[in-house]
Amino acid sequence: VKANGRNGFEFFSSDMREHAQARMQLLKDLRSAIELKQFELYYQPIVSLNDLSIHKAEGLIRWQHPEKGLISPIHFIQLAEETRHINALGQFVFCEALQTVKEILGTRSNFQISINVSPVQLSSSDSGIDDWHDMLSAADIPASAIVAEITEGLMVNPGALTQKRLKALVKSGMQLALDDFGTGYSSLAYLQEMDTDYLKIDKRFVDNIKANSQELALCEAIIVMAHQLGLKVIAEGIETTEQMKLLLAAGCDFGQGYLFSKPLSKQNFMNLVSQKTVV
Ligand code: C2E
Ligand code: CA
Ligand code: CA
Ligand code: CA
Repeated sequence: VKANGRNGFEFFSSDMREHAQARMQLLKDLRSAIELKQFELYYQPIVSLNDLSIHKAEGLIRWQHPEKGLISPIHFIQLAEETRHINALGQFVFCEALQTVKEILGTRSNFQISINVSPVQLSSSDSGIDDWHDMLSAADIPASAIVAEITEGLMVNPGALTQKRLKALVKSGMQLALDDFGTGYSSLAYLQEMDTDYLKIDKRFVDNIKANSQELALCEAIIVMAHQLGLKVIAEGIETTEQMKLLLAAGCDFGQGYLFSKPLSKQNFMNLVSQKTVV
């Protein structure tokens, strides 16, 4: 039943029907895309703000659709989560990231790739996450080369299986980053209990940073607090040199954003990494 303005209620509006049809079509496409392996992992460099060196990157999934071209994850992650296809996508992402970081670690030391791990993966018994430890061992690289980015929502009220998994991942040596910080309600106690390594300041704060602004004051406070808890800070969505300078002055450790680089195909990313800095 849908509220329909002053006409009261209607059982199934044409809007809803179109929405439901589009969703069914997307789901059908998503299923075949998984079978046909139409996904690709892109990489966005994360730079050290004081010298712009690249020591990390975030893996971001892309769907290479035969007709529609490159599709952004914002259009399919939620549906993939609702239908648990995210588990298959998540395994693909983990394997790709592992392979790429292994290649990089063959030519230089100390590199990390972070991947976005959905709460659905952590709470599904069949998500494959329990194999990550063995896969990391088999890859023969330090487990700390992979960082799991977890969103705040998850930290508020994690279920028993999720907690057990997070603890096991941390114990195996994988690192944890708290993604999109500032958009939800994190329990700082839980952050610390989980031995989180990185806090990522959400783009919406970075967007509005100006000298003497409230957003800057907020970022400064977050950075001080994070450092006191032993976390390093990554600012997301940096697009201007002004934002970069203010964040650097505020003590922020790392930055990620179009100012440095957009997410790149593996080939382009590997070329950039071999240069070691973004400039
Ligand atoms: P996120 O984890 O917050 O990732 C950062 C997003 O910000 C990425 O969008 C990135 O391309 C974009 N971005 C980075 N720097 C800038 C900038 O300077 N300006 C602007 N305007 N945007 C910037 P993307 O790749 O479209 O991903 C969107 C979201 O989809 C991600 O947000 C994440 O929540 C989700 N996602 C992406 N890949 C995966 C994945 O492999 N697994 C899961 N579960 N979620 C994923
Ligand atoms: Ca992320
Ligand atoms: Ca840790
Ligand atoms: Ca984020």
